Amino acid sequence: MRAKVLGEDLGVFTLRDMLYNFPYKYIDRSVIHRVADITDGMPYVLLKGQIVNKYIEGTGRRERLVAVFTDGSGYIELVWFNSIKTWNNRLQYNHTYVLLGKPNNFNGRYNIPHPELEDAQTAQQAPLTMQPHYHTSERMKRMGIASRQVADMVENSFKLLAGHKVDDVLPDYMLKRYNLMSLDEALHKVHHPVSSKELPEATRRLKFEELFFLQLDILRYTQNRKMNYAGFVFKHVGEHFMRFYNERLPFELTNAQKKVVREIRRDVATGRQMNRLLQGDVGSGKTMVALLSCLLAIDNGFQACIMAPTEILAEQHLQSVTEYLGDLPVKVELLTGMVKGKRRREVLTGVANGSVHILIGTHALIEPKVTFQNLGLVVIDEQHRFGVKQRAQLWNKNVRPPHILVMTATPIPRTLAMTVYGDLDVSIIDELPPGRKPIQTVHYRQADRGRLFQGIRYQLQLGRQVYVVYPLIKENEKLDLQDLQTGYNLLIDVFKEYRVGMVHGKMKSQEKEEAMAEFKSGKTQILVSTTVIEVGVNVPNASVMVIENAERFGLAQLHQLRGRVGRGAEQSYCILMTKDHISDTSMRRMRVMVDSTDGFVIAEEDMKLRGPGDLEGTAQSGMPFDLKIANIVKDQELLEIAREAASELLEQDPQNALPQNVMVWQHLKLLKKSMVNFSAIS
Ligand code: ADP
Ligand code: MG
Repeated sequence: MRAKVLGEDLGVFTLRDMLYNFPYKYIDRSVIHRVADITDGMPYVLLKGQIVNKYIEGTGRRERLVAVFTDGSGYIELVWFNSIKTWNNRLQYNHTYVLLGKPNNFNGRYNIPHPELEDAQTAQQAPLTMQPHYHTSERMKRMGIASRQVADMVENSFKLLAGHKVDDVLPDYMLKRYNLMSLDEALHKVHHPVSSKELPEATRRLKFEELFFLQLDILRYTQNRKMNYAGFVFKHVGEHFMRFYNERLPFELTNAQKKVVREIRRDVATGRQMNRLLQGDVGSGKTMVALLSCLLAIDNGFQACIMAPTEILAEQHLQSVTEYLGDLPVKVELLTGMVKGKRRREVLTGVANGSVHILIGTHALIEPKVTFQNLGLVVIDEQHRFGVKQRAQLWNKNVRPPHILVMTATPIPRTLAMTVYGDLDVSIIDELPPGRKPIQTVHYRQADRGRLFQGIRYQLQLGRQVYVVYPLIKENEKLDLQDLQTGYNLLIDVFKEYRVGMVHGKMKSQEKEEAMAEFKSGKTQILVSTTVIEVGVNVPNASVMVIENAERFGLAQLHQLRGRVGRGAEQSYCILMTKDHISDTSMRRMRVMVDSTDGFVIAEEDMKLRGPGDLEGTAQSGMPFDLKIANIVKDQELLEIAREAASELLEQDPQNALPQNVMVWQHLKLLKKSMVNFSAIS
């Protein structure tokens, strides 16, 4: 049972797994604090004292156990919201405890929620000054396996080795060359650092190892792909492309668009499978590049598909593409979860017999039922919503993998992109279509609402349309929807002579589509929504984007939202509404938005201001292995070094046969064994 839980909840199956189950933090136990010295913003503190009172308060879901704790210097409340009975029984008076917890300031009084409590005597036996803390699940805790017990298991694992060193998985020459300690030493130090000074070297070694194997896997795969996967050759620039270019192109391409189209044309003519990431800020005209690429595929006898992350976006693409194509003889169809019954069968038949040239849709496209007659190009829009697994499935849709064009508005540093997407080429559209007036951004507070409404009214009188967006945060969904509803009611009230629509994630897709369509056609002039419109929606007549509670959005998201306006020739505006008082960081974020409209600048500021959180989530979801200790954003420098090491090793040992590298290949095999084989990471 214990083994099963460890496997399921921690991924620990073997002795080695146990040793690779690293602490997520360390607590310095060399200092015992005094209750009287507790101040705001303290991290975990160690206190030593006694319980002098305890009682259960509240009822139902509000029920909690409160214990009053003192060390003679002052009193502090310990609070439990879960396992109340157990704790109530466990806590004893006249008994000295050492407790560890994070003090909370609650209306000027400190309390410690869910502290870790230990008998002072047992605690004294712990010799470590740096105490490692391990992740545990709720289930493990219920079984009595807390961090301390995991530490014991790690300890036992070392004992089982009975003095033998843990075999290294990196060759000696590499350790020397990159100045790394042995695996054995690193594992000991990361679990039992004698002081915080020992940690950096040990973690560097372990991170390097992880990143090295990650890069080795990617590079080896790339090598294979180049050798084994020939790509379809799109030799001709034929009638579809030329007719479109000469007769239907609604505007002159920007130089950046031309450059990218040239890059793509060159790629698909080589006979090597294209794997290209197209980065371009919101509004830079990626759709046109996608369409031109599709036409190239069609000219060479292939079909193309465009995959979008949401139904609304897929519809949007369908609209843009059919509008662009006009009466050209190119058959475009839509496939989403909403396309059902007879219609669906017709589409599927057309795709299978080749009469459909371009299929646009959501992840419905990758279902096994969708078979193409001859798929040659896959365009993936806003890639970060698709996992590697989903992309890999597209590869099986033809005898050879189709060419892949991934389009994104989120700038990603190059090494990171290469790590997440394997070996890919990057194209950048670094220029917006001409005639766009930069969007004017202002930061308003509640007190400015009157001015906001005046501005909106003025734009509505000019015949323009307005978005009003509310954040939706999962934990508090109900409240958020209430906010949205209140905002909606207020707008209806203030703008009586106009029509207001609403879209949010809780609506049925059909209702959403309808609300969007009404806004697009101008039937409604104001659209109140949650972030469902975040990516890709195109309503050129909309000139105002109001973002409510803007302090609750990340910079990248604010930038995406702002990109929904400024798509026509008129001056557009983005209004960031916040509370009257916001934190310094929020203030700086608003400043960045007001000062810059450049997506790359904003992405960089975002990384600086709030760390790589967002990007990290994006990136990690595409990884071939789970990383336990390294972070591909924070450890980028080490990632580059590891990549270099991996590429040297592959060059020197292309057959994977040199005796000094045996352990490397064995370990890679072991790592891969537990993973699904995404042999074709697009
Ligand atoms: P994104 O890169 O965000 O997907 P879109 O492809 O939706 O951008 O293009 C944004 C808008 O710019 C669309 O209305 C599109 O028709 C227009 N557009 C694209 N390329 C050009 C161009 N070269 N000149 C003028 N307008 C363009
Ligand atoms: Mg787009």
